[in-house]
Amino acid sequence: MPISIHRLSLGAWLVVLLLFVGACSEPARPRANVLLITVDTLRADRLGCYGYERDTSPNLDAFAKECALFERSYSMAPFTAPSHASLFTGLHTSSHGVYYWGHKVDPGAPTLAERFAKAGWRTGAFYNHPSVESCDLQRGFQHTEARYYEPAADSIDALLGWIDGGAGQPFATWLHLWDVHRPYGWRDWNELPAEFRSKVQRREMSFAYEEERYGSPTELAVGRGEQFYNVPQSRQRQPIAFAGNKRVLDERDWQFVADRYDGGVRYADAALGRLFAELERRGLWENTVIVITSDHGETLLERDPCWFTHDPFLYEEALRVPLLVRVPGGAGMRIPDLARGIDVLPTLLEHADLPGADLQGRSLMPLLRGESLPPALLWAQTQTHSAKESARRTKPGEPWLEQRECVSDGRFKIVIDYEKLAVEKSTGVALYDLQADPGERKNIAHTPEGLPHIQRLMRAGDEFRASQRSNSRKGTLSEEQRRLLDSLGY
Ligand SMILES: [Zn+2]
Repeated sequence: MPISIHRLSLGAWLVVLLLFVGACSEPARPRANVLLITVDTLRADRLGCYGYERDTSPNLDAFAKECALFERSYSMAPFTAPSHASLFTGLHTSSHGVYYWGHKVDPGAPTLAERFAKAGWRTGAFYNHPSVESCDLQRGFQHTEARYYEPAADSIDALLGWIDGGAGQPFATWLHLWDVHRPYGWRDWNELPAEFRSKVQRREMSFAYEEERYGSPTELAVGRGEQFYNVPQSRQRQPIAFAGNKRVLDERDWQFVADRYDGGVRYADAALGRLFAELERRGLWENTVIVITSDHGETLLERDPCWFTHDPFLYEEALRVPLLVRVPGGAGMRIPDLARGIDVLPTLLEHADLPGADLQGRSLMPLLRGESLPPALLWAQTQTHSAKESARRTKPGEPWLEQRECVSDGRFKIVIDYEKLAVEKSTGVALYDLQADPGERKNIAHTPEGLPHIQRLMRAGDEFRASQRSNSRKGTLSEEQRRLLDSLGY
């Protein structure tokens, strides 16, 4: 019976082949949990692991030793909504479309949550800011908990409760903490645990609250404290009433506000230390990829007038954020390559073996494996305050104009200010050498050595603008602006 013998041997061969393939293939790697943490408004240089001399971050410093630390990481916008939209979509602001509160993330751009949910991860978001929902940033998260302006401890408790209810299904979650954002520090220092009051306020920070100078801590945080923030020069020198005394704020006051910022960092750090311990206690530490970053930094005492703000500026203190990535094999790495908010999603996708086509960022996984990548450029965008005023009259979806943008290779950086450009051409474009001038005090745009860098980075800016998604507001550079730039000879 040659036919049946043939059939039998074919069946047997198939069995042998399947057994052979099964024996040779790697056992399936358990799908890792993903925990993306954004500590809103956290400057990189306010953490010990990024060189800060104050003891603001003992837990993050210890965590950084288990991570790859990106020494030069940038957000895509110094503003909560567009920056988070870039983290979630891997796209520039001009492509995801969120320039301002109320602008929705492009429905055609799959988000981190949608991608992981589709592949079987359980997704949850725990956030502290109303702009999240106004921009649809929570899109794709199966579970969401909003705790506007609540302390980190509460959000972390909610996150842990949600993890505990997951019955072992891998999770991909976003935790957003607000404690570093203004009003800096804590709504009431007296609510801080005693260990923080002593360590943060007095011994380590050399910082004591002076009630006779500022009124009650609660008043300062929720009411009068607003007088400290976003202070334009015209208001900065006017007398302001505190604790019944009307006086002009002085250097001591400004330092006091900056100290409160540091206290907020210390508080967030303690909360994260507790989260790490809880993950470890649950046996989740080894199989959870953790990324810690921020949506932007903060201008503290760098600028004159010394505004305590972030969104109008593209200076380093407003854009440079920490990026700590904990994946197996990355422990102790300090990576000097330029990293961007748009690179976070591609990195997480590659680690999870998920597809990531049409992203404008790139995976940092090769760097985490000790390989190299070609140099990258940062293209960041923002709006000025005056533009925000007009935004209130702009319906979501209407064409929007980036008022400022920068292009940087990590060493040289151009900043284009479209409002200035329209008024005074010579000050519309600035160039800084971040190595020689890290504080960005010396504009070298009009020097012979600056010209080639301006030309190179302006060309790169043109390429970024031209490469934005077709359904986006790619025509953000108006004819008038283009004409003004052209007239400068760029
Ligand atoms: Zn923010």
